Amino acid sequence: MTKQSIPVQKNEYIDVVFEDLTHDGAGVAKVQGFPVFVPNALPNERGQVKIIKVKKGYAFGRLVETYEESEYRQTPPCSIYKQCGGCQLQHLSYEGQLVFKQKQVKEVMARIGRLPDVPVHPVLGMEEPWRYRNKAQVPVGEREGGLVAGFYQQRSHEIIDMKACLIQQEKNDEVVQGIKEICGKYGIRAYDEQKHRGTLRHIMARYGLVTREAMVVLVTMKEELPHKNSIIEEITERFPQVKSIVQNINSKRTNVIMGDKTNVLWGEEYIYDLIGDIKFAISARSFYQVNPEQTKVLYDKALEYAQLTGEETVIDAYCGIGTISLFLAQQAKKVYGVEIVPEAIEDAKRNAALNGIENAEFEVGEAEKIIPAWYEKGIKADVIVVDPPRKGCDEALLQTIIDMKPKRVVYVSCNPATLARDLRILEDGGYETKRVQPVDMFPHTTHVECVAVLELR
Ligand code: SAH
Repeated sequence: MTKQSIPVQKNEYIDVVFEDLTHDGAGVAKVQGFPVFVPNALPNERGQVKIIKVKKGYAFGRLVETYEESEYRQTPPCSIYKQCGGCQLQHLSYEGQLVFKQKQVKEVMARIGRLPDVPVHPVLGMEEPWRYRNKAQVPVGEREGGLVAGFYQQRSHEIIDMKACLIQQEKNDEVVQGIKEICGKYGIRAYDEQKHRGTLRHIMARYGLVTREAMVVLVTMKEELPHKNSIIEEITERFPQVKSIVQNINSKRTNVIMGDKTNVLWGEEYIYDLIGDIKFAISARSFYQVNPEQTKVLYDKALEYAQLTGEETVIDAYCGIGTISLFLAQQAKKVYGVEIVPEAIEDAKRNAALNGIENAEFEVGEAEKIIPAWYEKGIKADVIVVDPPRKGCDEALLQTIIDMKPKRVVYVSCNPATLARDLRILEDGGYETKRVQPVDMFPHTTHVECVAVLELR
């Protein structure tokens, strides 16, 4: 649009009707077709907006007043919702969130995937969508002589103390709170980012939902931790579920939380958890899904879509610690997993052994290189499962799938936009997308996970 034709001006007050939500949860209103993004506004609401910033193709506004509220609007249950920024949709009822997420996936399938008719099922949500996270990771600071821990105030590095996080397992909240008190009592100083000194940088707590085992990780600036034994004793006395206390040392000036060195201070190196019948060992550094209850829902869907009979060779690309691979191995003849992070592959092998699974093999490397190499060696999959990071699959991998012609592709995705893009490529290569099932892994945030199944035409 030329400058003259932009229909809104900075500092102007206008009345609008909101039509949509952006993928990051802001309301969208159109003024003569020109989109205005407004935080905290919901579709079907009417209100007054002050224009804050005008760009070439869109503008940002602030909601001044709401004349008509959405049937899905609710008062955010968390008292620090606005300051924290960890959740983006608490002002929308859970029912409304599921409606929004399904609509978002449908639109992206039509617009990016050119698949307006592909069935997108209603989102599988949680019955109790609170207290689901099994991992807490909080920065530590000091206030009036005591320790605080919580989150950085938006656009600053000021730490806001957090006593409870409503999407976090209560056990993790209790442990973090306890460690703040115990370390505070022994005069442990918080790490000071600016001066690059002090001791305690982050507290991490992990919890096995099924096993009820907890792990504590203290991320410190140096190896030395004053009053170490007394601190350990108090933690174990107060929290009998803690099976592992670990120290991670991070001496760098960095925003990265963990350093390279990890010492077990007390107890085990691992805690365990189960997803379905499969047991996983979780170390301080391991990747593990943060919502295990919904992970089971997602993987059950992936398994259902794979339609295995026990005779198939399956490839699990982007396999991480082998979670999906081990799920599939129970119902396939052979599973090959590939993943780029060497430690994750070590975990995958350990997890296979832990469960007595002998028909799964894992290899470190880029999926787009390893899978073509397997193909050359004569390994041909009947079913391929992919679960790539947000940027989606590498084109070379999609091309290998098209060449290898497995009868089915199951695509697990944390980003509907790249999913739709890749589905289009597979469609053009001879596949048909049968259905897309969104699963709500992260209630109250804008994230949406999907599993799609394609069949060779
Ligand atoms: N399927 C796993 C993890 C999926 S997350 C689970 O459910 O737990 C995506 C994974 O892809 C990450 O573990 C990341 O390390 C890996 N990855 C990223 N790029 C890759 C590539 N080019 N080849 C193989 N793996 C890759």
